[in-house]
Amino acid sequence: MIDSHIHLYQYDQVEKRMNQWLSEGIHKVVAVSNDLKSAYETLELKQRFPNFILAGVGYHPEQKPMQVREMNEFINLIYSEKKAISLIGEVGLPYYELNRLTEREQDLHLEQFAWWVEIARRENLPLAIHAVHSQAERALAILKKVPTVSAHFHWLKAPVPVVQEIVAAGHFISFTPEICYRERDQKLAEIVPLTQLLIETDGPWPYNGPFEQLETTPLLLKHIAKKLIELKNEPHCQIVHQTVTNTIHLYR
Ligand SMILES: [Zn+2]
Repeated sequence: MIDSHIHLYQYDQVEKRMNQWLSEGIHKVVAVSNDLKSAYETLELKQRFPNFILAGVGYHPEQKPMQVREMNEFINLIYSEKKAISLIGEVGLPYYELNRLTEREQDLHLEQFAWWVEIARRENLPLAIHAVHSQAERALAILKKVPTVSAHFHWLKAPVPVVQEIVAAGHFISFTPEICYRERDQKLAEIVPLTQLLIETDGPWPYNGPFEQLETTPLLLKHIAKKLIELKNEPHCQIVHQTVTNTIHLYR
């Protein structure tokens, strides 16, 4: 299985963990970054474990927008590390932090998301997107102007018509361990075709329900797959095969 969205730089003892994950059937992860510092750390991990990691460079939207200096540094980094980078991410639009951002900062986030989409187009890279609830529609509108770019709406929460539009545009949508205990995510999974569905942990983000006392690692993927067997009425091998195929198709 492949974890299609994880913040690997936030874990300690990555080598030891990776060996355990490999022995339990996790053969790759899509490692995203949140800012310049974590982008450098993620690329360092990619250098150490090239076959295990698909590396993403990006700036998480739930914080103040980037400074021009940071944008320039990202451009230089993407040019110099082009071969090591598989995607732009995670990038997107803020939702949870909206109240803490001024109107000017919110506008800047919209501009900077469009800037990332343009980089993705120019460099022919897919996008890992964080844009939830009311922001999903906005992100989709920006993406629609650049139809050659493929995107992954990670841990999506959005109104059904917006989800249907994202699917119709050919993008991918991923599910976290929350699908095991949250009806909202289960309903969403029913309208996402298996050919556009990915599984992720967003680790080390902690979960509730049956995972409350557990550390989040890619080992939780098997619980998502188990839930999908029931929701999609497909055998385990088909769920695993299709989600791996989708992840490789998007991120390779
Ligand atoms: Zn994330």
